[in-house]
Amino acid sequence: MTFRHVAIIGLGLLGGSIGLAIRQHLPGSATSGYDRDPATRRRAAERGLADRICETAAEAVSEADLVIFCVPPGAMGEAAAEIAGVLPAEALVSDVGSSKRMIAKVLSEALPGHAVIPAHPVAGTENSGPDAGFASLFHNRWCIITPPEQTNLVLLSRLVEFWEALGANVEIMDAEHHDLVLAVTSHLPHLIAYTIVGTASDLEQVTRSEVIKYSAGGFRDFTRIAASDPTMWRDVFLSNKDAVLEMLQRFTEDLTALQRAIRVGDGQALFDHFTRTRAIRRSIIEEGQDDARPDFGRSDHQA
Ligand code: NAP
Repeated sequence: MTFRHVAIIGLGLLGGSIGLAIRQHLPGSATSGYDRDPATRRRAAERGLADRICETAAEAVSEADLVIFCVPPGAMGEAAAEIAGVLPAEALVSDVGSSKRMIAKVLSEALPGHAVIPAHPVAGTENSGPDAGFASLFHNRWCIITPPEQTNLVLLSRLVEFWEALGANVEIMDAEHHDLVLAVTSHLPHLIAYTIVGTASDLEQVTRSEVIKYSAGGFRDFTRIAASDPTMWRDVFLSNKDAVLEMLQRFTEDLTALQRAIRVGDGQALFDHFTRTRAIRRSIIEEGQDDARPDFGRSDHQA
C-alpha cells in the first residue's frame, strides 16, 4: 500500500526530514528530490536527503506516484506549475504547508485533473535549509490531513499510512477548521513572539546588552520562536489571513482584560487566569508534546 516513488519538491527542513524518514522507515520506497537553489541541491546530495537529487522539478516527478511540495506557502503555485503536464496522471499530489485552505486551492488550480490531498505535519524547529532536516522530526507528532470533498478514500488511506510509517499520529480535518486551530496554536504565538522581540530591541531605556544578558527571564523562549524563517512566516500570515485576524481580535480583547486587572489591582482575576493556563501546560506535557524538565531540559539551566 505504501508509495513506490515519492518526489520531494523543496529540500529544506521539512523536505529533508521526509527524505531521511522515508529512507529509515520505508526502505522499499524510492525518493527523488528537487530544490530551486543549486547550493541546496548540492548539500542535499551530500546529506543523502533523497536517493536522487534532480536538476529540474519535471525530472524529479517523472516516476512519482506521490509528490509532496515542501516549499514556503507562497511558492506552492509556482512550484506546482513547473510540473504541470509532466506529472504522471495517477500520481497523488500533497504538501506540508502550514495553512491549508489557500494552498489546497492553489495546488488544485495548478494541477487540474490530479488528486490533491493536502497535509500539515505539526512538527518543526526554528531552523531551515538542507542541513536542518532529521529523520525523527515526525515521531509522535500530529500530521493533519485535510482531504477535500469527493476525495478518493483509497488514496487517502495510503497517505494516512505513509505519515504513520514516518512516526506521525494522523488526524483528518476540514481545511477551514485546520486554519482556525493553527491560527491560535501556532500562527498567533509566532506573531506575539515576533512582536515582543521587536519591541524589546526597540526599547530606549533598556540597553540591547541588558536584553540579551537577562534573557533567561522568559524573553529567550520568545527569541527561539522569533528566529523562525521570515519567508515562511510572511507567507503563513498572508495565506491564513482571515483566521489569524479573527484570533488576533480575540487575543486583543483578552489582553485588554488582563491589562485592566493589573491597573485596578484585581489580583484574584490574575491568579485565576494564570491557574487556568498552568493546567494547559500540564496537559501538553501529559500528552507527550513537550519536555517537563525545568527550562525545557536545557543543560545550562539558569533562570
Ligand atoms: P525551508 O527549510 O526554507 O525549505 C524550503 C525550501 O524550498 C528552500 O530550500 C527553498 O529554496 C525551496 N523553494 C522555494 N521555492 C521553491 C520552488 N518554487 N521550487 C523548488 N524549491 C523551492 O522551509 P521548511 O521549514 O522546510 O518549510 C517548508 C514548508 O513546510 C512550508 O510550507 C511550511 O509552511 C511548512 N512547515 C514548516 C514547519 C517548520 O517548523 N519550519 C513546520 C510544519 C510545516 P530557497 O531557500 O532558495 O527559497
